[in-house]
Amino acid sequence: MSTTPDSPSWHPATQAVRAGLARSEFDETSEALFLTSGYVFSSAQDAADTFAGDLVHDVYSRYTNPTVRMFEERLASLEGAEACAATSSGMAAIFCSLAALLENGDRVVASRSMFGAIIYVVNEFFPRWGVETVLVDPTDLDAWAEALSVPTKAVLFESPSNPLLAMVDIEEVSALAHAAGATVIVDNVFATPVFSKPLQQGADVVVYSATKHIDGQGRVLGGAVLGRSDYVAEIVTLLRNLGPTLSAFNAWVLLKGLETLDLRVRRMAENAEAVARFLESHPKVATTIYPTLDSFPQKELADKQLTGGGTVVAIKLEGGQDEAFRFMDALEIFDISNNLGDAKSLVTHPATTTHRRIGPEGRAAAGITDGTVRFSVGLEDARDLVADLEQALARL
Ligand SMILES: *Cc1c(COP(=O)(O)O)cnc(C)c1O
Repeated sequence: MSTTPDSPSWHPATQAVRAGLARSEFDETSEALFLTSGYVFSSAQDAADTFAGDLVHDVYSRYTNPTVRMFEERLASLEGAEACAATSSGMAAIFCSLAALLENGDRVVASRSMFGAIIYVVNEFFPRWGVETVLVDPTDLDAWAEALSVPTKAVLFESPSNPLLAMVDIEEVSALAHAAGATVIVDNVFATPVFSKPLQQGADVVVYSATKHIDGQGRVLGGAVLGRSDYVAEIVTLLRNLGPTLSAFNAWVLLKGLETLDLRVRRMAENAEAVARFLESHPKVATTIYPTLDSFPQKELADKQLTGGGTVVAIKLEGGQDEAFRFMDALEIFDISNNLGDAKSLVTHPATTTHRRIGPEGRAAAGITDGTVRFSVGLEDARDLVADLEQALARL
């Protein structure tokens, strides 16, 4: 393999296309897909030297794979992280990011506004292993300060969060967390590496569901954990021994996804802003939530922390579940799906799907009403999306 060295002066769009590129002896233009589970050695001595750590050679694709390595190096470069470990899904990334730190008797402080499966991991799974979890309102700095007034091992949050885009002040919460001895893990799925760089704002670790914008075309599952080399080495040990490694095929799809991430996410965000401005001006929509709107509840923090509004818009309709369902069923372009970050625009009713499990009290605490509808805005022409919303709202 020959590797073109990445230049530290490259801008993100260049990194996304070039970083981590390692060409094989065939000098291919596009990154090669090494669809192989194992590797061969030219001699018994080479195998022995590799296992002894004296020779660098791939051993097995649960350990390393050239295509997966290209994806890891490219994403690390884009994120400005020392190292990256790719995982089989976003949930594998979240689980490993915590499992590398936590032991019986440890304490985790986490945002209560997170992806449903993450709430399960921190609130139900780790407590079975003797870990104490405290969930806080992500927007309330006093609540973070109180929760972090005692020694803590890990702090975990999503910012902006699903579905109402609640934001955490990464700089402030990281300072509080570090004073409590905690490692700060940020789920950066909603902001993407295009619009937020949590490591530059004080966080220690960034995790992704690459399933979302990094693939961005609804094809494969994947995830990543990024941070300092020593911490990522711990994640790699977990992956090698537990097995939730990214497949070479998925890594290749995601690597090609990274090439167009910046373009796609910027266009999706332009479309999302157009959708948000239309919805905000519509008399049948009670509330519209999008970070670049003046009405956004944490506008000042959004301006400080994000360089774009992202691809998700939420609204609250006054007519509850019945009205939300009639509206969603009337949409012709937006597909009904719990997924997000796709080229295709999607619409979700969080109370009955993604946020069903947290129950009415959990939803009330997070501000999710029965009339809340979430849009993941895709790459269609914004004029067609607005026309679709207009015709569906006219039918209410
Ligand atoms: C989808 C998602 C995850 C989980 O990722 P998978 O790839 O589905 O395992 C975690 N966090 C957020 C914010 C997500 O949207």
